[in-house]
Amino acid sequence: IAALSGAGVAVEVVAQTGSTNADLLGRAASLPAPVLLVAEHQTAGRGRAGRSWLSSSENSLTFSLVWKFDGGPQALLGLPLAVGVMLGDALDRLGVQVRLKWPNDVLKDGDKLAGILIETQSAPGGGVWAVIGIGLNLIMPDEVEAQLGRSAAGAPWLARMERDVLMAALLDALAAGLRQFAQHGFGAFCVRWNLRHAWQGETVVILDNGAVLHEGRAAGVDDTGRLLLDTEQGRITVMAGDVSLRVK
Ligand code: ATP
Repeated sequence: IAALSGAGVAVEVVAQTGSTNADLLGRAASLPAPVLLVAEHQTAGRGRAGRSWLSSSENSLTFSLVWKFDGGPQALLGLPLAVGVMLGDALDRLGVQVRLKWPNDVLKDGDKLAGILIETQSAPGGGVWAVIGIGLNLIMPDEVEAQLGRSAAGAPWLARMERDVLMAALLDALAAGLRQFAQHGFGAFCVRWNLRHAWQGETVVILDNGAVLHEGRAAGVDDTGRLLLDTEQGRITVMAGDVSLRVK
């Protein structure tokens, strides 16, 4: 990947690393934020709560972006969902129709096409760094699906693009979106998230460590990114924390 000029973002490309998120988290304090780190091959990609993200150099795009925000952790409410909207808009422009699964997945035809993992660190002089990690499947080989034990999606159309052109299109969308998020928060993304909601009106369950915590009809998200769920006891809101959502 050579031709990334970067939307005001310093760009670094490495041939191989364990996790681009781990690398940037370790260096956030000494970085001239914002920085984009692209790994041609990522060997120990991370998901939420110690889960892993599988990728291979020919078949996926893996990168992280570190961005500094003013304010405390509250300033980042809804950021994973907003990043989903930014990716969704960029992928649509590239000809790939996607939907969003609460809180942090990008789906194509109901299967996971991309994952988003945001890790944060407070900055000593005030503010907070968000390390935004994204793994995007280009091709999803059968053997990787078998390893995952569930179906997943690829976007072969994107696999035919030059990687730097694809990366530049995503970076432009993210840089513009993150500036908008810094100014207006998730409120500026809420309507677009709901328009892309994969399971709107469907009966879903919210799982905590595999146990069913809530069941109800998914009614979108509010302007802080909480899921609205219509249950037998009425409407409740669910915070992302470490719960997972499954369609019933
Ligand atoms: P869930 O999708 O089960 O609700 P989650 O959204 O919390 O979980 P993440 O932590 O975001 O999941 O992502 C890690 C999970 O994604 C892994 O546990 C695995 O099931 C799945 N996964 C890992 N690599 C890939 C990949 N390349 N494509 C699609 N899915 C993957």
